[in-house]
Amino acid sequence: MARFGQTGLVVLGIIVLSVPLLCQDLVEEEEPDWKPINLCNSDNCKLPYCNCAGTKIPGKLSRKETPQMVMFTFDDAVNAQVWGHFKKLFHPSRKNPNGCPISITLFVSHNYTDYCMVNRMWALGHEIASHSITHRVPTDWWSNAEYEDWEFEIWGQKNNLMRDAKVPIKEIQGMRSPFLAVGGDNQFSMLEKFNFSYDATIVGGPANLEDPTLWPYTLDFSMEEQDQNCNIPPCPHKRYPGFWEIPVLRTMDVGGIECSFVDKCLNRPGDAEEMYEFLWMNFLRNYETNRAPFGLNMHAIWFSSYKYTVDGFDMFIKKLLQLDDVYIVTSSDAIKWIQDPTPLSRIRNFKPWLRSCKRQTPDDCKLPKEVGDYDWGGGWGDLSTLWIWEYIIMFISAVVLIKRDNFDDV
Ligand SMILES: [Zn+2]
Repeated sequence: MARFGQTGLVVLGIIVLSVPLLCQDLVEEEEPDWKPINLCNSDNCKLPYCNCAGTKIPGKLSRKETPQMVMFTFDDAVNAQVWGHFKKLFHPSRKNPNGCPISITLFVSHNYTDYCMVNRMWALGHEIASHSITHRVPTDWWSNAEYEDWEFEIWGQKNNLMRDAKVPIKEIQGMRSPFLAVGGDNQFSMLEKFNFSYDATIVGGPANLEDPTLWPYTLDFSMEEQDQNCNIPPCPHKRYPGFWEIPVLRTMDVGGIECSFVDKCLNRPGDAEEMYEFLWMNFLRNYETNRAPFGLNMHAIWFSSYKYTVDGFDMFIKKLLQLDDVYIVTSSDAIKWIQDPTPLSRIRNFKPWLRSCKRQTPDDCKLPKEVGDYDWGGGWGDLSTLWIWEYIIMFISAVVLIKRDNFDDV
């Protein structure tokens, strides 16, 4: 500023003030018709394949008509250290208001993973997604990774899950980067090529508990065109039609500081009660504003470090189970609802969410003895009880046949 001097500033001021008066027509003519942000709108982007980034409830539903989806997502290895926590917190006896078991999403990395446990989780109705093979450090390796690196890490891990955990390829739809490091177009073009349908890496939403937060969106328009950015660059710049981004919503810790992973908050709750309060106050932001899917993103190994965290989560889940407008679903199931926004009055018959009622046949792999398997008993349609019903039907049929034979004799 000093190098212009006072005279320079006066001249500059006169020029700036004169321009609108002298060249009004010229300025209007030169105004570009292309705007760099918010190109996406309800005319050029329609469900089920396109959804603009924003806070609006899909399908123009009111808040009270909208089910509050809660997505518990866990990153890293699935093994004996975390198995018991999953078993306790997300046992199939815990059910959504439609009568189907609650379900979660596991972003699984290769090292230290027991693929038999992954198979069991899949068979119970949980979602399995890719989180890399090596999970290598330093963290910025991921920001600079080449296309081939992403292919090796994420597509490679999808193959591991398919081959070793026997998860059908069409059911492995999502990914999350290690350390939430975004890999720009190298990452996203790989995801497009290998038919992934969503990424859940990019942090988004407000850093407070008052404003409505972000719904998942598609990349039919680029991040810039939708006024979104990445807090850890590089962001993707291209468009990826029909590909979903499920933002990692910012949570606020007990001291009011934002955190992306609930286990990485600066101000940690000190006991189970505080843990519950922390989860509940963050849940209310979504529940009482625009009901955007509430994602709780974390590493289950955390539960082993601090016992009260499991107890706090247990209290929180029990509370959610009492609410008939809350559904604990997988990330893929959340996308399915957005594609077909179904009001609460018809939600119990919403077909994609009845999926978790049907268990898959688990692989015959063996779990380590010390962790124990799930109790597969109990309930209609359950694998271990099906044979009983078959025997009962066979017995009744036999009795009917015998009676008929006797009757014929008479
Ligand atoms: Zn990780």
